[in-house]
Amino acid sequence: MRDIRTLILLIDMIRGFYDIGNLVNKRMANIIPNIVKLLENMETEDEVILLGDCHDTDDREFQIFPPHCIKGTEETKIIDELSVPFIKARGTYIPKKTINSFDGTNLEEILLKWNPEQIIVVGVCADICVLNVAMNLMAKKSYKVIVPRYYIETYDAPNHPAEKFNEMAIEIMKTVGVKIVDRI
Ligand SMILES: [Zn+2]
Repeated sequence: MRDIRTLILLIDMIRGFYDIGNLVNKRMANIIPNIVKLLENMETEDEVILLGDCHDTDDREFQIFPPHCIKGTEETKIIDELSVPFIKARGTYIPKKTINSFDGTNLEEILLKWNPEQIIVVGVCADICVLNVAMNLMAKKSYKVIVPRYYIETYDAPNHPAEKFNEMAIEIMKTVGVKIVDRI
């Protein structure tokens, strides 16, 4: 057991949600510089975890979304801009197979071990995996969860206007007690 002050969760900041594959989302460019700075300004005792999709070819998620981030492919790798800051911060990588970061991962075990004073959640997609992990964190242990709004993004698609879904995700997170700030 080791109490830490701040844990940063990077959600799906991997190439399959940015620049290669079926779920390319250039809106991620809006948040990358902010997240790079966040990692560069980390205190040495803080920790960062990358939770990234790493699917088997027959995962049930592919009944809903086109195939993406298959294990062993470039799509599962951290995006180029974050690679060096993540290594410098000695980040921990946790592969995941669903939109729920707790599903089949050791995230809960790590949280119990590190007992963070606050958890900062950043990444994509604001209304899917970011929202899901923030809700779960609040439900499990009433962690102090902070989401800086200019560090999360979602995608534009028919019936899925990004701006609106970003705002909805933020409002829902506020409702369950997540602290929303502009920047951090
Ligand atoms: Zn996925």
